[in-house]
Amino acid sequence: MPSTNRDQLVALDRQHLIHPVTNFRAHEKRGVTVLDSGKGAFLRDIDGNELLDAFSGLWCVNTGYGQESIVRAATEQMARLPYATGYFSYGSEPAIRLAAQLVELAPKSLRHVYFTQGGSDAVDAAIRYVVYYYNALGKPQKKHFISLQRGYHGSSAAGAGLTGLPVFHRNFDLPTLQQHHIPSPYPYRNPVGQDDAAIIAASVQALRDKVAELGAENVAAFFCEPIQGSGGVIVPPVGWLKAIADTCRELGILLAVDEVITGFGRTGPLFACEAEGVEPDLMTMAKGLTAGYAPMGAVMMSSAIYDAISEAAGPDIAVGHGQTYSAHPVAAAIGLEVLRLYHEGGLLANGIAVTPRFTAGLQELLAHPLVGDARNRGLVGALELVADKKSKRQFDPALRVNEAVAEAAYRNRLVFRAFNDSILGFAPALCYTEEEFDLLFMRLKRTLDEVLELPAVRAAM
Ligand code: PMP
Repeated sequence: MPSTNRDQLVALDRQHLIHPVTNFRAHEKRGVTVLDSGKGAFLRDIDGNELLDAFSGLWCVNTGYGQESIVRAATEQMARLPYATGYFSYGSEPAIRLAAQLVELAPKSLRHVYFTQGGSDAVDAAIRYVVYYYNALGKPQKKHFISLQRGYHGSSAAGAGLTGLPVFHRNFDLPTLQQHHIPSPYPYRNPVGQDDAAIIAASVQALRDKVAELGAENVAAFFCEPIQGSGGVIVPPVGWLKAIADTCRELGILLAVDEVITGFGRTGPLFACEAEGVEPDLMTMAKGLTAGYAPMGAVMMSSAIYDAISEAAGPDIAVGHGQTYSAHPVAAAIGLEVLRLYHEGGLLANGIAVTPRFTAGLQELLAHPLVGDARNRGLVGALELVADKKSKRQFDPALRVNEAVAEAAYRNRLVFRAFNDSILGFAPALCYTEEEFDLLFMRLKRTLDEVLELPAVRAAM
């Protein structure tokens, strides 16, 4: 029997717990890192190591850890009413107030909210409502969906097909015949080069070409993230989302913007759509909605979609989409307090105020021999490591540079996400101070220096 609590947890985890998007065998070998507590921008692991979290958990703890007013809101709601169903026309005050606040704060095209448990089921709900909508309109052939390569739209049975990352398709029989992908507007690695206007034009043309190929009468919707998060923090040029939105409108297809990462101040404004004046037909959100303090997501939709669905259902038939925990009162109470912290609590303003420090820190690291690209919008950003800066040659995946980076970062007490293709993703909490950024970049520089000294890395450069 393992001797310490830690060893016991590692052994039990290895035997029983399946981790998300993980290589089972590699995880068993590595063993779980048990996180134990958190305060502000810092985490503590079960061995008592204090770690600076530069990823807000999984781009979600936008408020930072240990916000006592959130804990109070949750406990008060739990004591008052821990659960209320949304079925049979029941509901709860926090859920109703949160829906109303979201409608007030989101782009004005969006008038109705359906709450989920997270992002994947928000995307799943969006797909189902779109299918219902076109049947309601008497256009049942309009069922094809287009999204971006390297896009991430969760891992529900339907949404994983819209996700444009091969591991989500492999052995899952995805994408379906109704799911199509166009190239990502990836500035660093774009065949048309790095000129903003050319990237936007190429992306719009790719959408037009795909719609023409399928026939506009067969295309339901285009799904995209304003910034591609899990695909490697790909930041399209300013103006890209607006150009795509205008094209969708012109082609008569719905635009569903997935703000699961970009929502709730991550890029500056409450929603990234705002910055470009885009009013989507549907919008999905999660993560920052409750800052990770409870699972919750939402899909918002226009009145046109809501009314068409309502009319098609008629006076008696239920719209058959629902979950036990839709509009969960404790999650909603947390959401209300989190929204208050973003606004009255000054977190959105702080996020905007510290963004230049984040940008500067990333840009300074462009001088590092390993760094080929540095990019961010607001408090989401990435460094892309390359074996050769001039040719942008990537490291051979067999070298597992990402794992070496993650290990070195942990030794330096820093947490961020090292993607497979040597892209390092950062999403610091909106509560970060300038001093915490100093610490982040000091530890990050040391991490990169250590990786650079690895013989296998040196040999590959
Ligand atoms: N959409 C986007 C843009 C996401 O980033 C994510 C999660 N990373 C999801 C959907 C899925 O959300 P969840 O993990 O909460 O199911």
